[in-house]
Amino acid sequence: MTAIATLELHPGKERSLLRRHPWIYAGAVARVTGRPAPGDLVRVVGGDQRFLAWAAFSPASSIRARAWSFVETEMPDDAWLQARIAAAVARRAALVARTDARRLVFGEADGLPGLIVDQYADQLVVQLMAAGVDARREAIADALTAATGIDRIYERSDAASRQREGLPSREGTLRGALPAGPVVIREDGVTYQVDVLRGHKTGFYIDQRDNRRLLAGLAAGRRVLNCFCYTGGFSLAALRGGAAEAWSIDSSADALEVARAQQSLNHIESPAHWIQADVFDALKQFASERRQFDLIVLDPPKFAPSVQHLDRATRAYKQLSLAALRLLAPGGRLLTFSCSGAVSVDLFQKVVAGAVIDARVDAQMLARLAAGEDHPMSMTHPEGEYLKGLMLGRL
Ligand code: SAH
Repeated sequence: MTAIATLELHPGKERSLLRRHPWIYAGAVARVTGRPAPGDLVRVVGGDQRFLAWAAFSPASSIRARAWSFVETEMPDDAWLQARIAAAVARRAALVARTDARRLVFGEADGLPGLIVDQYADQLVVQLMAAGVDARREAIADALTAATGIDRIYERSDAASRQREGLPSREGTLRGALPAGPVVIREDGVTYQVDVLRGHKTGFYIDQRDNRRLLAGLAAGRRVLNCFCYTGGFSLAALRGGAAEAWSIDSSADALEVARAQQSLNHIESPAHWIQADVFDALKQFASERRQFDLIVLDPPKFAPSVQHLDRATRAYKQLSLAALRLLAPGGRLLTFSCSGAVSVDLFQKVVAGAVIDARVDAQMLARLAAGEDHPMSMTHPEGEYLKGLMLGRL
């Protein structure tokens, strides 16, 4: 084994590591001793040579290294990796009672920076988002099979963040046969078809599980409007919960086709209307027709990929919430979401409050919504929190 390189930080730049924040920015690095390859383990020390962390080196990224372990005696070798993956999988064990679609590893929050692993029944999907996990993909695949007993692993390393790490996009099977078609999963009594090859993210919005269940519990006899429905997750949950009718809007014909197929798969007979349209236009149209709904879901795509897009994004979130509030019947509820990491919980609440004021309605906040427990947030890495939502009740 070649000697492990050392990454020495500028004086004062060790503060965030001492607070167990895992990202080491390029500007914090004073010198690199040795010749680490992309993804190699490096020993991070302060200006006084004191040990700070073991980290994975990423020479192309402005996040020059990501800390894997803050304990000198816990060097992240393959056995360490296997144990950390097994522990992350074990933490999700209880979810099998509700679903066979689970996020098994959520990057920094599980102490495995850049590694995403989702399970869909007997198929795993991995996303390697940083040089460190990319370099250890074989060891990761072995550890996943050991922890889950599943030997079908598909790689969807196609996220834009790979470019910032200097890594090419990579897709294909890592273990086992290529999935022959959609993977069928079952969550809270609803059957879904997940296209792990072409679907959004790794195929499905696993993160909205608890919010789908919340909606289902409120839906009996209600008129539901689901905006940005994609393959119909919220709509199907609401219909399964006894919704009187569900209107679902998305601009993607392909997504709506899957949604319709899932409706028949679930033998749902209640009226479901799948509308291919721009949500902004459709909401205007509905307002002009004076339509009313009892439950409205707004789960748009990420409007703010970074802080530079904040202004435009907050305007769009406000406009949507305002348009939805105008269609909400008295006593109705609005579930409004943002999955932009750059939009904080506080900011989102202010934006939605602005929409309530402009809509000239009285509304109360009934719940703050977030991703499910298989998408935890590290207490020392708040950047990991991305999905936030509010449930408002109109008086
Ligand atoms: N709520 C979904 C996920 C939404 S993803 C779920 O729980 O599964 C965002 C969706 O918004 C995508 O399906 C995309 O096709 C759609 N979309 C993006 N911009 C749109 C627009 N202006 N009007 C309608 N749909 C849009």
